[in-house]
Amino acid sequence: MRLHPPPWPSWVNVENTLRCNLDCIWCAQALVGSTRSGVDMPLPLFHRIAAEVLPRVSRLSFSVAGEPTIAPHFLDFLDVVNELDLTTELVTNGTALHRPGLLERLLPRLALMIVSIDGARAGTVERIRVGARFERLLANLGDFDAARRAKPVTARPELALAVTLSTANVAELPEVVALAAKVGAARVLGSWLQVLDPSLLDLSLHHRPMDVARFTGEARAAARRLGVGLELPDGPPEAPPEAFARRALGLVGTRSRRRAALRGALQRARVRAWELRSGLEARCSYLWGRAYLHADGHVSPCCVQGRPYVGDLNDASFAEIWTGPAMTALRAGMFDGHPHEACTRCSVGQGPAAASAETWVSPRRNLRDAG
Ligand code: SF4
Repeated sequence: MRLHPPPWPSWVNVENTLRCNLDCIWCAQALVGSTRSGVDMPLPLFHRIAAEVLPRVSRLSFSVAGEPTIAPHFLDFLDVVNELDLTTELVTNGTALHRPGLLERLLPRLALMIVSIDGARAGTVERIRVGARFERLLANLGDFDAARRAKPVTARPELALAVTLSTANVAELPEVVALAAKVGAARVLGSWLQVLDPSLLDLSLHHRPMDVARFTGEARAAARRLGVGLELPDGPPEAPPEAFARRALGLVGTRSRRRAALRGALQRARVRAWELRSGLEARCSYLWGRAYLHADGHVSPCCVQGRPYVGDLNDASFAEIWTGPAMTALRAGMFDGHPHEACTRCSVGQGPAAASAETWVSPRRNLRDAG
């Protein structure tokens, strides 16, 4: 199937390292050992990405696998980014934010930092996130909040806490909401544990619907009381007006934020123009607007389990890969009845029914996927 070339992506994820300083009990990367492989994105590769890809994107996210803040060249990457007109997002375990020089370099372009925390008590966090020290993490969050608040309100990055929900921590979800309010986080982002290994079956919430109903209900009540946004996968996101106001303030803030917002809006308009020209609907926001650039130079369209690699930046330019045969085949698969296997079970391309909350906690489905 022949398709018109898509617009340039507005959002790029850069995996600056595969390493991690933790061994979280349910982390797919830790389970397969890649977090100990020592693979970092070389600085020259990032320079090439900064020259070719980043000048035309509005959001750069440092996350795919690995812990971005511990990469040897991370501060150099941030120096490069601070010369560009874009906003950044960081997904981190928060345990290395005290690295000398990091916050100073991170804050100028940062719009959102998501800290994966997985609990609200020291025992729970340290049991799940093996290697983390809860006191250190709280101190780092305090330092981040102080540095954030030193900026004008319109330029302040947003903080969110992420929780992978399992039998080991669902009872603490209301406390995570309270912790978010305490450390200045605007939102709590919850997701169901995706069971990728038989040893994790007992942690899945699929057999504990009463606990899910009780603790998510209590967490929603706490979120409303404390003015914290709570986004859970089994229902519509609940974000209080304050959270939206904070984001809106960010948009009218710094010049780079305004330009990034404008570029994002332009990209959406270009996708719409593509739809009108093609007479088709861009069915996956990732295939038409986002790219994942991995530490070794490979490119993928998303981070969904089983997604394909569509090219290698060591062999081709990003422009060649973005409009090349592998990406084109993925897009065409949305219309010609032959979607990629990963897309057939993905809620983004196939609608919510393809990947309901139950899918993510169903052991049979996930074990088959993992195999
Ligand atoms: S439909 Fe899902 S799996 Fe396929 S490219 Fe889009 S996000 Fe990835």
